Amino acid sequence: MQKFGGTSVADIDRIRNAARRVRAGMAAGERICVVLSAMAGTTNQLVAWSEAAAECRNDPAVPGPGAPFDWAEYDRVVATGEEITVGLMALVLQAQGVPARSFTGAEAGLRTDEAHGKARIEAIDAGPLRDCLARGTVAVVTGFQGLAADGRVATLGRGGSDTSAVALAAALGAERCDIFTDVDGVYTTDPRIVARARKLDRITYEEMLEMASLGAKVLQTRSVALAMAHNVRVQVLSSFDDAPGTLVCSEDEIMEQQIVSGIAYSRDEARITVAQVNDRPGVAAAIFGPLARANINVDMIVQSVSRDGRSANLTFTVARSELARAMAELEEHRTAVGFDHLLADDNVAKVSVIGVGMRSHAGVAHTMFETLAAKGINIQAISTSEIKVSVLVAEEYTELAIRMLHTAYGLDRA
Ligand code: ADP
Ligand code: ASP
Ligand code: MG
Repeated sequence: MQKFGGTSVADIDRIRNAARRVRAGMAAGERICVVLSAMAGTTNQLVAWSEAAAECRNDPAVPGPGAPFDWAEYDRVVATGEEITVGLMALVLQAQGVPARSFTGAEAGLRTDEAHGKARIEAIDAGPLRDCLARGTVAVVTGFQGLAADGRVATLGRGGSDTSAVALAAALGAERCDIFTDVDGVYTTDPRIVARARKLDRITYEEMLEMASLGAKVLQTRSVALAMAHNVRVQVLSSFDDAPGTLVCSEDEIMEQQIVSGIAYSRDEARITVAQVNDRPGVAAAIFGPLARANINVDMIVQSVSRDGRSANLTFTVARSELARAMAELEEHRTAVGFDHLLADDNVAKVSVIGVGMRSHAGVAHTMFETLAAKGINIQAISTSEIKVSVLVAEEYTELAIRMLHTAYGLDRA
């Protein structure tokens, strides 16, 4: 399985470059299934058009508020980007004498639930792809999309082509899933932020899962979860040079484990403080119940008791895109919860250090707090799991915090 991301298929020249790798695989006697993203920038454009279309609800010439946003039509629009690149790739391969045919998600038998815009894969009927590969023809499949249970095209959420590739690799029993992108592997942190970031030869599924879910966009989180569940060996590598990439694999395939393997960050955070709530049993349930019912995910949570000991402040984070909705929900339940006022701040970022070595080594969190304190960076919230520590800081300190931590944990490239 070979998957190429947006920058790797951004124009015909790049598609031709990707085709070179397909030919190399064919020459080595492999059967190749290719999964493609849309050309870089295309999906953003399609999303922006859909949003602009929906904004027509504000046209002063129309009387009513209009219908709610139709995610199935959104999917119709944004799924088209991948249909262009797979057709072009098949044409390029054919022009070079390689038998190839393109497939949409539906044609490839990839079925999803009906959660348009963020659909989950439910089943794959790999028959059509198997037949194609058995004929010695390269199968070129659209990433990011499938056929929903309602019979319409559905997309898997941004970055979803990674998930398509891993799911198809699992369904086909592929030997490996190569993810070709614009960096030559998974680094200790985003190489666009820290020039001294180091490429990892190997990383465990668990660490990659944390890295991705905590903000490292190099692989979509769900693709890693799928790879882990189905034991798909994933390799991340560059489509532009032949450097060896990073293998995502199980812990027992890694000889020497670092305590901290990587640092991830996310600017997709917002902080809410519910100020002066009564410090009594049931308050947290009263606050988080309505948010859960509104399908708003809460991440980090801190409760601090006020000086008089009778009231508390409850601080937590939500996705930045859900801040307005979360504030509205809380306002609506003001009397039931019983708080004095709400505070919101979306100039925050979450910085996380990740490593399976934390299970057996103490002091990782302490190093983190000390390093940030030395630079006068205030920690607004903390959350931990067995293999990560996350802190919430003011957004302006994101890069400084990452660079300091990268050095403190000895991750800088020599
Ligand atoms: P594609 O279009 O190929 O799917 P993405 O933009 O989704 O590519 O993912 C690759 C990008 O992920 C890189 O350009 C890099 O900036 C970013 N990235 C973030 N964290 C990391 C990391 N730890 N290692 C490598 N790349 C990372
Ligand atoms: N084209 C989609 C996106 O930009 C899916 C992907 O590239 O993985 O989100
Ligand atoms: Mg991607």
